[in-house]
Amino acid sequence: MDVSKNLTEIKAKMEEACKYSNRNIDDVNLIAVTKYVTIERTMEAIHAGIHNLGENRHEGFLEKFNYIGNKATWHFIGSLQSRKVKDIIDKVDYLHSLDRLSLAKEIEKRATSTINCFIQVNVSGEGTKHGLRPDEVLPFVEEISEYSKIRVVGLMTMAPHTDDKELLHNVFRNLRNLRDTIREKEFHHAPCEFLSMGMSNDFDIAIMEGATHIRIGSKLVGS
Ligand SMILES: *Cc1c(COP(=O)(O)O)cnc(C)c1O
Repeated sequence: MDVSKNLTEIKAKMEEACKYSNRNIDDVNLIAVTKYVTIERTMEAIHAGIHNLGENRHEGFLEKFNYIGNKATWHFIGSLQSRKVKDIIDKVDYLHSLDRLSLAKEIEKRATSTINCFIQVNVSGEGTKHGLRPDEVLPFVEEISEYSKIRVVGLMTMAPHTDDKELLHNVFRNLRNLRDTIREKEFHHAPCEFLSMGMSNDFDIAIMEGATHIRIGSKLVGS
């Protein structure tokens, strides 16, 4: 496992997807998902030039944050239990998994400054996935307008695990359309510019559909 070699391959694929969809690669943020790997491997990613790190469990997040600190931009990408909010929220630069009012309330109570949040959406409707149904997202955004600590910077989804490219395009396109709908409302608390979508197996398709943040674990730092 050579992180910088993996990074070169991923960058090439990102370039290709950007070219295909007439996008600028600078508009796509690569997040290294380090949830499966050690601090050593995570440091390899930093040394290869990656500065966005993603973790999905609060223990793993704290372990790496305590070691690496502000040398990285920190993304929390997993479902977050309300009782864990106080332990991590002020260390998180982007929370990708805002999915319920009770979590918004806890963030409002515990955060000392504004938190950049993505609302997680279950586009595919799979029962195993977290996230709001697409039709719940706009009412949710309106409901949290009074929560001064929450800034909705975008939407996040996890696509089904499948090789069906058509289906993947559809899932990502649906999230983009939903993002456009919310962005057009020009809510002060919800600029909703970003799309967090695409992982090791589908990030090229996500980029073609407008992803601004791709979250890559196994193909970048290993599993
Ligand atoms: C694990 C994980 C990823 C990365 O998955 P890979 O398939 O290993 O790239 C991305 N997003 C979330 C929310 C994850 O939990």
